[in-house]
Amino acid sequence: MELKIIKSNELKKKPEGALGFGKYFSDHMFVMDYQDGKWQNARIEKYGPLLMDPSMCTFHYAQETFEGLKAYKAVDGRTLLFRPNKNFARLNKSNERLCIPTFDEDFVLYALKELVKIDRDWIPTEPNTSLYIRPFCIATDETVGAHTSHNYKFIIILSPVGTYYKEGLNPVKIMVETNYVRAVKGGVGFAKTGGNYASSLRAQEDAAAKGYSQVLWLDGVERKYVEEVGTMNVMFKINGEVITPSLEGSILAGVTRDSIIHVLKDMGVKVTERKISIDEVYEAYLNGTLEEAFGTGTAAVISPIGVLGWKDKVMTINNGETGPLSKKLYETLTGIQKGEIEDKFNWTVDVDK
Ligand SMILES: *Cc1c(COP(=O)(O)O)cnc(C)c1O
Repeated sequence: MELKIIKSNELKKKPEGALGFGKYFSDHMFVMDYQDGKWQNARIEKYGPLLMDPSMCTFHYAQETFEGLKAYKAVDGRTLLFRPNKNFARLNKSNERLCIPTFDEDFVLYALKELVKIDRDWIPTEPNTSLYIRPFCIATDETVGAHTSHNYKFIIILSPVGTYYKEGLNPVKIMVETNYVRAVKGGVGFAKTGGNYASSLRAQEDAAAKGYSQVLWLDGVERKYVEEVGTMNVMFKINGEVITPSLEGSILAGVTRDSIIHVLKDMGVKVTERKISIDEVYEAYLNGTLEEAFGTGTAAVISPIGVLGWKDKVMTINNGETGPLSKKLYETLTGIQKGEIEDKFNWTVDVDK
């Protein structure tokens, strides 16, 4: 497929001061349309509003998928993406589940490289900043009939970001959710789709009212096994071993989760993917073997958990401070992403190559 490039002739002013997360967007975006049974009309054009009919079916039935990855300015000047092929493969998996047509991953990666090259000046260089990349697919049939759409848009937008949580790498307070559930096996928990987020906002708001940053979800059937945190996978260091919930179909297969598992193995730390119950976590807390807990995700990379609230119990982990392993993992992964540490896993992709 051909990629058309229509450059904007009025470039925006870059943001000054703290970036926050996802508040600013670059000058251009990638768009392609699915119509007449194929993806077509691929173009990079000026970032701007879409004209949508009010009946557009994503508004009503949420046939939608998305991804999140980052671009970094490396210390040697290269512009690097981190494992973008994993994101596009996962987006196609989400698309299959949501009945959205799959796309050519190589072509979209090529388009993303071109887009990042055009808006390269938007990659921030301050410590703990990056260019967040948001690819997404939406169903665009104009009808309020509930059925699979025949028309779609695939869009990629770019946003210069700072840290995801205002806490940065400082520990966050997480509340174990006992009232609501996020996903069950057979549902869409493994897919990156907006509906998973819409359905979790109520719990998120309730937790925020109690002073917590996010919730930790338990499995939807037995309400016993740990699943994941709002936007992150979760890991516990118990007695020297890192344990993370296995992928059973209801949690998201995080790229950061996978990367951290590789890094831990490489560091010689024992890491196990298996079911882990909240009772087991509490038990480890009581007997003093719960050494660290942290979330993993593209947005925050590593987010240490300082306090875990579960019913009337409050577990303070590692004195509420960032643990040595969390810190080391954050430094290792961001070091690889920014080209400061040797990329022995071959994870980074140079947009100019
Ligand atoms: C995106 C996401 C994650 C983290 O995945 P990464 O690929 O590491 O960014 C974890 N859980 C949910 C629900 C997510 O949407």
